[in-house]
Amino acid sequence: MNLPEEFIELLKNDLGETKASEVISDMAKEPSVAIRINPSKIEGDKIAEMLDHLPIKGNIPHCPAGYFLSERPSFTFDPVFHSGGYYVQDASSMIIEKLLEFIPSQNEEIKEERGLRALDLCAAPGGKSTHLISLLEGYKNSIIVCNEVIKSRATILAENIAKWGYPNVCVTNNDPSEFTSLEKYFDIILVDAPCSGEGMFRKDERAIQEWSLENVKLCAQRQRRIVADIWPALTDGGVIAYSTCTLNRMEDEENVEWICNELGGKLLYQRRFYPGGEEAGEGLFFALIKKDGEYTQREEPRQKRQNKNLTKFTSQIEFIGEQYTLLKKRDILKGYPKDLAEEMIAIEGKLRVLLSGVAVAEFIESKRGEPIIIPHTDLIQSKAYKKGSLPEYEISLQQAIAFLKKEPMVLPPDSKKGYILLTYKSLPLGLVKNLGNRTNNLWPNSRRILKGG
Ligand code: SAM
Repeated sequence: MNLPEEFIELLKNDLGETKASEVISDMAKEPSVAIRINPSKIEGDKIAEMLDHLPIKGNIPHCPAGYFLSERPSFTFDPVFHSGGYYVQDASSMIIEKLLEFIPSQNEEIKEERGLRALDLCAAPGGKSTHLISLLEGYKNSIIVCNEVIKSRATILAENIAKWGYPNVCVTNNDPSEFTSLEKYFDIILVDAPCSGEGMFRKDERAIQEWSLENVKLCAQRQRRIVADIWPALTDGGVIAYSTCTLNRMEDEENVEWICNELGGKLLYQRRFYPGGEEAGEGLFFALIKKDGEYTQREEPRQKRQNKNLTKFTSQIEFIGEQYTLLKKRDILKGYPKDLAEEMIAIEGKLRVLLSGVAVAEFIESKRGEPIIIPHTDLIQSKAYKKGSLPEYEISLQQAIAFLKKEPMVLPPDSKKGYILLTYKSLPLGLVKNLGNRTNNLWPNSRRILKGG
């Protein structure tokens, strides 16, 4: 591996000759592979069986839901992956689990009623967001906003969030400077900042080619601007998690010092992972900072005017429970947790929202002009789906792959006609409409797997 001279120099100045040489030789080793399971889909004594097709090597010490694999399988051809059963993520990144130690876990009022408001500001493709969503599972009535400034990346983020299956999430596509209308709203903000990527050198040759000292300095400045822009949106006493996948002090420790001194915060926790090592995947820097000031009750965003795109839908829909408010947005019926609906819709009025709540069904018009309601894949992959409301059919691995490729499928002659929920290893995967001699495949085209198998 041909590392830039100036990078090696920086590393030696920071760590000394011996440790720097160790880090450099670890960078030549094969990267590790890890997954983090979705505890709302795979849990307890089912874990071993659900993952028995993967080469699990061991647990990740800092994250109970994380597992190292001994080699990289083809995730594309694993239906459990497409069901949102797990997320493929670098082991070091799972350190955000640490957040749990610094949020008010003892406060019953927050846990049982008020919930938390969390923002993942630089969220695509969704590794830390999906983890954050799982971590806040125990905080009833929480809302998580996952934001990504680059539109194409935000679309991928929205797909990964939909698959994870939580209806209390909004995916937005905004610049950090556009959060001014949500002052002191978030209890937790993750800033997984764009960086010079030194921690990714062994995984990504491009990161080496694009590296320069000049770029490190530019990144450090940009990171400060991003944090300063979002700082007003953090409530007093709230926690910001600042991370980068780079190894130099300018983008890491020096920025944390700057945040604490210039914006007013106290460092709670800090950890650096170098590529390789027993507990780590790639290089990562992670810090938790508490904003100065007494924690106050947040101000909830209010909706200034009625959202004309959303219309109330009062008819009964059998696939979703009564604890959801249903609203129609053009041809899509959306479900929001009842207690959070007003607030989530107010957020839609303030940010560019790509996804909010859960897509329950799609409406199309029949030839006779009557509305036809088609259940949505996002719903059946979500916690909001009312189990048992659709007939189910368990498919084999081969059938699941054919389904994901959108190849023709015929169900056994005694199968019910109409919409059928296909499960693989008992996990909801997707939907078909059974017409008897053939089926219509409702797997979204954007998620279709294309090659090989
Ligand atoms: N948190 C993600 C995860 O765990 O999957 C990875 C995030 S990646 C390290 C940084 C993200 O910041 C990228 O998706 C990038 O598009 C976004 N980004 C780039 N420039 C930005 C800016 N000026 N403000 C906010 N985000 C930016």
